[in-house]
Amino acid sequence: MITEKTKAQPLDGAVVAARIKDEVAGQVEAMAQTRDYRPCLAAVRVGDDPASAVYVRNKIKACEEVGIRSEHHALPESTTTEELLNLVNSLNVRDDVDGILTQLPLPRGIDETTIIEAIDPSKDVDGFHPINAGKLAMGRPVFVPCTPAGIIELLDFNAIEIRGLNACVVGRSQIVGRPMAQLLLQRDATVTICHSRTRDLAAGTREADLLVVAIGRAGMIGREHIKPGAIVVDVGMNKISEEQEVHALFGDAAEKRLEVVAKRGYTLVGDVHPAEASEVAGMLTPVPGGVGLLTVAMLMKNTLKAATLKHGLNP
Ligand code: NDP
Repeated sequence: MITEKTKAQPLDGAVVAARIKDEVAGQVEAMAQTRDYRPCLAAVRVGDDPASAVYVRNKIKACEEVGIRSEHHALPESTTTEELLNLVNSLNVRDDVDGILTQLPLPRGIDETTIIEAIDPSKDVDGFHPINAGKLAMGRPVFVPCTPAGIIELLDFNAIEIRGLNACVVGRSQIVGRPMAQLLLQRDATVTICHSRTRDLAAGTREADLLVVAIGRAGMIGREHIKPGAIVVDVGMNKISEEQEVHALFGDAAEKRLEVVAKRGYTLVGDVHPAEASEVAGMLTPVPGGVGLLTVAMLMKNTLKAATLKHGLNP
């Protein structure tokens, strides 16, 4: 039952991510003990994008935490599509590699679609291959993109009944928006998808009991977009550093955020206006501390699943 409140209840991603990783760690250990096998994730990164380097580092660290083996293939910016294809093909045929991820975005010179389609669908732990996207669209998912899959786990963990809700997803990327809408549809929500060509965004979002936002614009979704009491999931991860912008978005909590800016040079903010949303929404994912942590946890879960399916191993 959704009720109107003055301060939204935070939906904590850290607790759920820790629980998922604990479960994976237990199953990986059981597989290692009984089958003498540990799953392996190969992470491929091309170029010098500092954000990509951080993401891959976090994924490798998570592998270490749950006992999954990992390989980090860091290639120079000058890598060609053909060279990257050769690496992907060599990982595809290796029996000791269960999951392959190529960190996106790839440098401009590389044909991203060709690379994604070259990954063996049974090792596609990001769930971006057309076969996995198609299976999800047909309601027969195997590997589901980690961010939307993590959001479903977050909702389930908090005992939020998805069935019958009016859900609105803002954003239609292959990575977040589209698979999110498919998963919510599969769970019997009534789903609306909004995007940059939507004529009246607020009219769409205000109908939503469950609003998932994945746009890539700091604080764009404000009070006027949110139905009072709605569950709001903020996928956005945007860096801001201007003092004025921090004040506008965080209100009373601005000082704390400005300390972060002073220390790191920026603070992270989602696509949802945090101060306004917390006054209107019933539940709200924080940024950071919400969806981002779940993405990495679900990657671990998908890698374990790939090993389990490929080797016919039960953990
Ligand atoms: P994309 O840029 O691929 O997609 C953005 C989507 O937002 C597009 O569908 C676009 O519409 C839509 N959009 C853009 N502007 C508007 C607007 N003014 N009104 C309505 N819709 C708009 O981004 P991603 O889906 O990859 O990522 C979205 C955000 O989520 C980013 O901040 C990203 O950093 C974050 N992210 C976070 C993750 C996590 O783990 N927390 C994981 C992945 C992403 P159109 O299709 O018409 O162009």
